[in-house]
Amino acid sequence: MQPVLIGKEKLEVVRSHIPQELYLLAELVSLEGARLYAVGGLVRSSLLGLPISDIDICSAILPERMIALCREKGFTVVPKGIDFGMVEVHIGGESFEHTTFRSDSYAEGGAHRPSEVRFSSSAEEDAFRRDFSVNAMYFDILSGEVLDPTGGLADLEAGLIRTTSPDPRTVLADDGLRIMRLVRFAAELGFDIEPASMAAARELVSNLADISAERIRDELNKILLADVKYGERSAERVLHGLTLLREVGALGVILPELLEGEGLEQKKEYHRYDVLRHALHAASEAVPALPLRLAALLHDVAKPRVFAETGKMHGHDVVGAELAREILRRLRYDNKTIDRVVFIVHHHMYDLDNAAKDSTLRRTFARWGYERSLDIAEIRIADVHGSGVITGKVATAERWKRILAEMKRENAPFSENDLNCSGADIIEWLGIPPGPAVADIKRRMLAHCAVHPRDNTKEGLKRLAFDICPKSGG
Ligand code: ATP
Ligand code: MG
Repeated sequence: MQPVLIGKEKLEVVRSHIPQELYLLAELVSLEGARLYAVGGLVRSSLLGLPISDIDICSAILPERMIALCREKGFTVVPKGIDFGMVEVHIGGESFEHTTFRSDSYAEGGAHRPSEVRFSSSAEEDAFRRDFSVNAMYFDILSGEVLDPTGGLADLEAGLIRTTSPDPRTVLADDGLRIMRLVRFAAELGFDIEPASMAAARELVSNLADISAERIRDELNKILLADVKYGERSAERVLHGLTLLREVGALGVILPELLEGEGLEQKKEYHRYDVLRHALHAASEAVPALPLRLAALLHDVAKPRVFAETGKMHGHDVVGAELAREILRRLRYDNKTIDRVVFIVHHHMYDLDNAAKDSTLRRTFARWGYERSLDIAEIRIADVHGSGVITGKVATAERWKRILAEMKRENAPFSENDLNCSGADIIEWLGIPPGPAVADIKRRMLAHCAVHPRDNTKEGLKRLAFDICPKSGG
C-alpha cells in the first residue's frame, strides 16, 4: 500500500518520540527483509502533539523469529502472548511491545479474546483487526513513511473516533470491550464518536456482558480520569465520557443502579439536574483522584430507592454507602478503594447546613482521620458544583479545610494512635483492668486533644485520665 503524505514538521514530531534503541531493532528487522513500524498510541498521540505512554511496534516477523533475533543480539525478550503474536523487547532502558501483523477471528458473543489468530505479512490486513482508525496508523521507523489503511489521519483532523472497518458492527461485535474503548478514547482526546460507530455501539452494547468485570473496571477508571491522561484537570472531558457511556447504553449494563435516577427531579433551588445527571456532573467536578470520582458518581445512588420507599430522600447516604459497596465489589475494585468510597458516600451529607461548632468539627475530624476528613470536604465541593446551580467557593468545605489545616499546624491527633500514651499507661495510671473502660478513656482523650492539642503529652494525658476517671486508684 502507498504511504500517505504528511507534513515534515509532523513527521519530525513523531520521530522525536522514537528512542534510539528502536533503530537497532528496526535494522534487525530490515535484515530479514521486513519493515518495523510504530503503531497505536505513539503515532496517534504524537501527531496530536500529546505525550505518549507506551511504545507499540509491529512487523511481519513471526513471534518465535523475533525472540530468536533478539536473543542473538543479547536483547531481553519476554513472551507476552505468543498465540497473539505479542513479545516484549527490552533494549537499554526502553521496552517495546512487538505484535506480529495478524488478522483475528472471533466466536459468537463479544468476548475480548479472538478465537483464532492468523499471522499475516500485510500491515493493511493488520489495520483491520485493530479497533479505531486513529489507532491504526503505521510509522515506518527507518523510512519515516506513514501507512494509513483506514483513514486515521482524516479522523484525527476531524476529531473523530471511528471503527477501522466501514461496517462498525463487525468491529464492535467481535470484542465488547471496544465499546468501552470507543468512549474512553473519545473522552481522553475530547473527540466525537462518528455516527455509524455510535449507532453500532448502541445496538451491540449488551455484548459488554461478555467482558470481565476487571476489564470493564479498568476502562471505567480511565474514563473517570480521562482529563488527566494528557493534561490538566477538566470537568468537560470526564463529563463527555460519562455522557457518552450513558448515550451508548453502557451505564445500563455496568451501573444500572445509576439509571434509576433518570428523570428523578430534585428541589430546583439547589439542583438543575435530575439525580442521574447530577451524579455524572458531580463525578466530573471532583478532584482527579479515582476514589473521589467514584464516590461522586455513586454518592446519591440510593436516592431513587429511598425515595420510592419513603417518599423522601432522607437516609440515602447510609443506604447508598452499602449499595456503593455492592456495586464496587461487583466491579472487582480492591478493598482499600471500596472502603474509602463507602466512607465518603456514607458521610457526604455531614453538616449540610454548616451549623456544627468548631469544637464538634475538630472532634469529628480527629475520629475520621485527616485524609478521610479531607475526602468529605472534597465530595462536598463536587456535590455542590455538580448541582449546576452554584460555582465558586463552598462555605462548609472551605471552613473544614481551614480547620483541618489548623489542626495539622497544632499537631492535633487524628487517631488514637496519635495520642502520646498507650493503653498500658492508662491501666497503670488508674489501676484498672484492661477492657472496654480503657478504650472509652482513649476515645475521650482523643476528643479532648482534638480541641486542646497541647494536652497531648504524657503528663497532660495522665492528668486527663484522672479527670475522666476520678474514682480510680492512683
Ligand atoms: P495508550 O496511549 O492508552 O497506550 P494505545 O492506542 O497505544 O493508547 P493500547 O491499549 O496500548 O492503546 O493498544 C495499542 C494498540 O493496539 C491500539 O492502538 C489498537 O490499535 C490495538 N488494540 C488494543 N486493544 C484493542 C482491542 N481490544 N481491539 C482492537 N485493537 C486493539
Ligand atoms: Mg499503547
